[in-house]
Amino acid sequence: MTEASQGKSRSNERLSLAVLQAENQRLRNRLEAMLNEARLNQEKMRRFDQLERKVIGAASLAALIDTLLIEYKSLFELDAVTLALVDPLYEVGRVLGDSKHMAEGLLFLDSDVELQSLYAGTGQPQLAGFDEVPAFLFEDAPSGLASVALLPLLHHGRFIGSLNLGSRDAQRFVAGSSTDFLERLAALVAVCLDSALATERLKLAGLTDVLTGVHNRRYFESRCLEEVLAARRNGQPLVCMFIDVDHFKKLNDTLGHQAGDEVLRYVANLVKVQLRGSDVVARYGGEECVVLLPATPGLAGLETAERIRRIVSAQSVPARVREAVRVTISIGVAMLLLPEEGDAAVLAADMIARADKALYEAKESGRNRVVMASEP
Ligand code: GH3
Ligand code: MG
Ligand code: MG
Repeated sequence: MTEASQGKSRSNERLSLAVLQAENQRLRNRLEAMLNEARLNQEKMRRFDQLERKVIGAASLAALIDTLLIEYKSLFELDAVTLALVDPLYEVGRVLGDSKHMAEGLLFLDSDVELQSLYAGTGQPQLAGFDEVPAFLFEDAPSGLASVALLPLLHHGRFIGSLNLGSRDAQRFVAGSSTDFLERLAALVAVCLDSALATERLKLAGLTDVLTGVHNRRYFESRCLEEVLAARRNGQPLVCMFIDVDHFKKLNDTLGHQAGDEVLRYVANLVKVQLRGSDVVARYGGEECVVLLPATPGLAGLETAERIRRIVSAQSVPARVREAVRVTISIGVAMLLLPEEGDAAVLAADMIARADKALYEAKESGRNRVVMASEP
């Protein structure tokens, strides 16, 4: 071999070595990238697993909503999470009671119409730019959201809500990417939500009077104790009223029980609309309603009772049964007395007894009137 050809062969070897090394490096890089992705996916799986356990284990509707709106958000480093629930009768709103969740991204829909159009009948998660989805889904969300994922919550083929995720990263949710994880999560959340809602409805049914739709005595008794404790804790006044329809027996006898029932429904609901959302109205028994007015001084309670009495006596019961009926009511009012010491149950019983006695006095002194219990 000449010197020249020897030199050429060495340079060829160096070249192929360089090519091989480059190829090797490329493969290493690719492997590293794949391993990284696998690690990321594994981490994502671990977090999904953690979230799923929390969703399944949530002890109540409120806890489930907290898990979705708070824990999901931080676990997956999202910039916004909102939950829209179809709640035409505002049942869920009533169960949750406070505005805590509203501030955190819970919103209610009157029907599933918006969701039908949002998911265009596909029932599939929608990944999109923030500007492409209706603004009401992220009303109070922080500014700067760039991409969103909307997860349909379907149960037995019907929309119960939508779980909405928002990110400031425009690449986080891009149309066309895989949605396996999100679909699985949406299905699980829908089942758990439906079951939590059913439990709450059942609880609510057990505390509601079937005839009038206001709370029943069982609810009143536990709530009354809570309100007495709260009044003592906050040093605020509490008023209790007993409301009884005058000569109701005669009305039943002359117009029939159906008309009587109609009157009870009418009176209970009239009382309810005259009060604040934080007040309590319950059917105590027969044709008696009981009312609690938290954080209300005696005089304001007396005025409220008088207003209700006046409205009932001034208007006729809508004639759904036969002819329009006119009824009057008598009301006994008592304030909670708060001595330094004393068992809350005893204080509640005392307040109820004094309101009942005041009602008796209202009846005795001619009916269609309000009597305030005198302090002992
Ligand atoms: P007063 O002015 O003294 O209150 O006279 P009243 O006739 O209203 O008094 P009373 O408490 O004696 O009568 C209550 C009646 O209410 C007796 C009962 O038949 C009737 N009643 C109780 N529950 C219901 C109900 O669910 N539906 C109907 N229609 N009547 C009821
Ligand atoms: Mg009566
Ligand atoms: Mg009675």
